[in-house]
Amino acid sequence: MSSKSAPPPLPEPLGVAVADSHTHLDMQEGTVEEALARAAAVGVTTVVQVGCDIKGSQWAAETAAAHREVHAAVALHPNEAPRIVLGDPDGWSRQGVRDAGGYAALDDALAEIDRLAALDVVKAVGETGLDRFRTGPEGMAAQERSFRAHIEIAKRHGKALVIHDREAHADVLRILAEEGAPERTIFHCYSGDAEMAEVCATAGYFMSFAGNVTFKNAQPLRDALAVAPADLVLVETDAPFLTPVPYRGRPNAPYLIPVTLRAMAQVKGTDEDTLAAAIAANTARAFGY
Ligand SMILES: [Zn+2]
Ligand SMILES: [Zn+2]
Repeated sequence: MSSKSAPPPLPEPLGVAVADSHTHLDMQEGTVEEALARAAAVGVTTVVQVGCDIKGSQWAAETAAAHREVHAAVALHPNEAPRIVLGDPDGWSRQGVRDAGGYAALDDALAEIDRLAALDVVKAVGETGLDRFRTGPEGMAAQERSFRAHIEIAKRHGKALVIHDREAHADVLRILAEEGAPERTIFHCYSGDAEMAEVCATAGYFMSFAGNVTFKNAQPLRDALAVAPADLVLVETDAPFLTPVPYRGRPNAPYLIPVTLRAMAQVKGTDEDTLAAAIAANTARAFGY
């Protein structure tokens, strides 16, 4: 393995332990035990494992049941819902909704998410929301129907809601307002600007920052972090994606949280222990563990 694709080295341990508020262990190399041990060695003692489809959500719940450091979030990803409706296993269909059978399949899948959401080890419903980057116009109706259903499931079970918002800020905020957001709502991989951060702050939405906050071209994201209230900020890897600088392009994993957190402390003009303590408390409050 060349150093360009090798896993980055372990960073200096954090002085105050935090959680990775959003990860996909099932998409990473190695075992769950190895990932948790590496993370714990640098002060990342809790992870939220996020499911993106039925199988992934069932696996998240099982993994959380088997490991006290793991909490589960369950959902059909915003790009998964149209795939179910459009019946296109190899990619996002260009055919549009074929018949009512597509929505029946979506409703069946949502019923399984609903069942999983009732479990104690499941702390959140998500990631759900809107993705205008990966899903085209023909999938929008299914995506929105699925998003609204997930909001309802989260509220009925008293669970947190984890939002995936890709190039859909205004519509995500509008639908949340129309449905009435759950008491605890988290924008995962927060991608809005400072102005949107003010809107989220007023609504009491948590903003979870990922490794892309370290990217050179991400000044608008750092401006958003700068104005985000300290009691609404979380940190995540979204691993295996979004590896922070200076390891961009190499595999991401929960043990790299300290790299992102240190960059965030610089933006906030605070020391890393103070930020870590705030994030640890915020994450526990957001997910209710
Ligand atoms: Zn996402
Ligand atoms: Zn994710």
